[in-house]
Amino acid sequence: MTTTQSAPITEEAFAEEVRVFLDANATRRQVEQKQEWGKGSDNVSLFAEKTRDEEQAEVEQAKAWRNKVFDAGFGWITGPSQYGGRELSASFQRVYSAIESEYAAPPQGPFGIGLGMVAPTILAHGTDTAKDLYLRAMYRGEIVGCQLFSEPGAGSDLAGLQTKAVRDGEEWIVTGQKVWTSGAQYSDIGEIICRTDPDAPKHKGLTGFVVDMHAPGVEVRPLRQMTGGASFNEVFFNEVRIGDDHRLGDVNEGWTVALTTLMNERAAIGGGGAGVGGSMSVERLADMLRHLGKDKDPVLRQKLADVYINTRIASYTNQRAMAKIKAGQLPGPEMSIGKLTLTQNMLRVADFVSLALGPKLVADDGEWGTFAWSQLVMGIPGMRVAGGTDEVMRNIIGERVLGLPKEPPPAK
Ligand SMILES: Cc1cc2nc3c(=O)[nH]c(=O)nc-3n(C[C@H](O)[C@H](O)[C@H](O)COP(=O)(O)OP(=O)(O)OC[C@H]3O[C@@H](n4cnc5c(N)ncnc54)[C@H](O)[C@@H]3O)c2cc1C
Repeated sequence: MTTTQSAPITEEAFAEEVRVFLDANATRRQVEQKQEWGKGSDNVSLFAEKTRDEEQAEVEQAKAWRNKVFDAGFGWITGPSQYGGRELSASFQRVYSAIESEYAAPPQGPFGIGLGMVAPTILAHGTDTAKDLYLRAMYRGEIVGCQLFSEPGAGSDLAGLQTKAVRDGEEWIVTGQKVWTSGAQYSDIGEIICRTDPDAPKHKGLTGFVVDMHAPGVEVRPLRQMTGGASFNEVFFNEVRIGDDHRLGDVNEGWTVALTTLMNERAAIGGGGAGVGGSMSVERLADMLRHLGKDKDPVLRQKLADVYINTRIASYTNQRAMAKIKAGQLPGPEMSIGKLTLTQNMLRVADFVSLALGPKLVADDGEWGTFAWSQLVMGIPGMRVAGGTDEVMRNIIGERVLGLPKEPPPAK
């Protein structure tokens, strides 16, 4: 018997395949033109206010697009073929993302947590049952995942969490409360970390699971942010049953599982570069100065230069950290650098626009591109907290990247 082995696809041939798919299924964006001051949307919000109907419509559009992309062979380019992946290197993913950005495709925000954090954790630590049930369905956009880590008494000190899971034969019974769960309102599954041995040291008595968000005993209540949006929730678990085949990793080894997710989270938040592009681009900020007649102001010019310089530095630093992931390794503590530099640059932008706009930032006089920035300034604190606070990122960088001595514990 003779076997024929197909030659590996080149990036050029792959790019051609991508273009054929996108030409047939999406519209090409107009050649990127610099946004004219006063024209188009001046929305620069983070955690924007929207109705549940608007939000659901966005989720449905995102799902429909992901469905098409997956069936065309681009939904999980680097993933194992067993779950519908193409088993290609990350450079093919970059080719796809770069070409897709030339087309007007529905935003994929609802999948950020599920695909950026939960799915990689299921792949690394899930049972075959969980992988078979969820991986293809997640990448195909059939189901959405959320991250059930934080609790009212456990955020930065995540290992202090108290939601308990008690074994009952081949099942676990989960009782407790999670908080700040982004996207729980439209999620189908969640990655939950529970306490399974209350007598063990706190990092040792935890176990991870995949929980069905539609199971009896799960209750999701929205929390409203100061931007007006309600993107996160409180989630209550009242004797929710989870099969042992939905366990992630070994019993009482949930800390390792949580770390896999957290490093992917920091990579997902910070890894896109220094992040302050698009509506927050230096060009747009410079336009703002010109239109306010403040482009000769030395302090504002200095601050704008500062935003530019730090954005460039952050992007180079990120590229070094991301090289590790591109080489196929798990994201490590270096990912905290990307997360911290992103939020520090956002802070610089907030500081710049607050000084440039002055009272226009807080009083809506109808002028385009002025009061709208208050939404961004109010959203940035959330970014500094989500996925690990700035202070916690500094501790991780100090201790685990730079090898500095551990921070002394607070005085008793
Ligand atoms: C927009 C948003 C979305 C989120 N989405 C999710 C989600 O989907 N799932 C989820 O599980 N969680 C989510 N979170 C929760 C987030 O992970 C926690 O808020 C975060 O880990 C901080 O925990 P905390 O709020 O309990 O604050 P705390 O840990 O109580 O911190 C309070 C303050 O103390 C400081 N601090 C704490 N420990 C130290 C230390 N060792 N050294 C120095 N300073 C310290 C902190 O920096 C902070 O300023 C989200 C949060 C936000 C804002």
